[in-house]
Amino acid sequence: AVALSLAACSGTSTSTSTGSTGSTGAAIADCNVGISMPTRSLERWINDGEGLKTQLEDAGCTVDLQFADNKTDQQISQIQNQVAGGAKILVVASIDGKVLSPVLAEAKKQDATVIAYDRLINGTKDVDYYATFDNYKVGQLQGEFIEAQLGLADGKGPFNLEPFAGSPDDNNAKFFFSGAWDVLLPYVESGQLVVPSGKAPKSNDEWTTLGIQGWASDKSQAEMDNRLSSFYGNGAKVNVVLSPNDSLAVGIEASLKSAGYTPGADYPLITGQDADKANVKAILDGAQSMTVWKDTRTLGKQVFTMIQSIAAGDTVEVNDTKTYDNGKKVVPSFLLAPEVVTKDDVQTKLIDSGFIKASDVGL
Ligand code: BGC
Repeated sequence: AVALSLAACSGTSTSTSTGSTGSTGAAIADCNVGISMPTRSLERWINDGEGLKTQLEDAGCTVDLQFADNKTDQQISQIQNQVAGGAKILVVASIDGKVLSPVLAEAKKQDATVIAYDRLINGTKDVDYYATFDNYKVGQLQGEFIEAQLGLADGKGPFNLEPFAGSPDDNNAKFFFSGAWDVLLPYVESGQLVVPSGKAPKSNDEWTTLGIQGWASDKSQAEMDNRLSSFYGNGAKVNVVLSPNDSLAVGIEASLKSAGYTPGADYPLITGQDADKANVKAILDGAQSMTVWKDTRTLGKQVFTMIQSIAAGDTVEVNDTKTYDNGKKVVPSFLLAPEVVTKDDVQTKLIDSGFIKASDVGL
């Protein structure tokens, strides 16, 4: 029961959008959208928020975009304000997926439609759709990259591995870890991967023991410093680090650097996610091995399409109706495909597509 209609529609066939600021052509009437992003501290959320806002405004929507400084109370009060301001559609990338039930119940009193953006919102029926990248696949790509680079399937090893996981309050983090650990745990069990710090969960459920609160680079750096000084005396070297994303990789790379590791010499394999500029530069410099690229422009476009459908009273297209159970319902989801980027495809995938500029990464 969303009281919106699609008016003055010039036809979706007019869609010519290419970059993050491109509009898809159709105007949406009476469209009041609140967008809530977790933080400005990570490049991707700024791009996500601004990109979607631009598309919606080009289609005539009123948009309130807020960033919450990674503080749950701040996010809740920002959403409260959006509801008070008459938002009919809420797009929320939650900080803590478990604490939004009361404010979303408020939103439902005015028949708002709630889209969980990138991260699932848990423990409430008041979330209508979920748009994200395939989070399990992100971790799987990281695990398979490590497997292939080290020749694990050919029986090579042993290699010293240090695994990390994302923020314990982020529902995505367990999917990232599970995707990677399902590939890597058998090699830990066979002894091809050795974890000197002992931080090697025996099952995916124990992933929070490796979690870095708030995805903070300074915390991953401190954790890596501890592991290096406590477990790597006597010339032992780290050969590979499972980092779930780029912000953690930044801290891990800083720690390795101050411990004297040198790219091209004794530097470990390091994974990442997001294709943040600093990390793409690190990839080009040999200080990071890969990143899992999620073209956030496609996520923005998908959510824009969802909003068009909601406004028109059409069926909202989803492609997964079984994976994302939030404890109260299985949330109909649209999953996009992530992809691996190494130094060989920075140009073809990231720069040629306009995701980043050559000058952003010193090219
Ligand atoms: C997102 C990642 C991001 C991380 C830290 C996750 O929920 O899916 O893209 O790196 O949060 O902000």
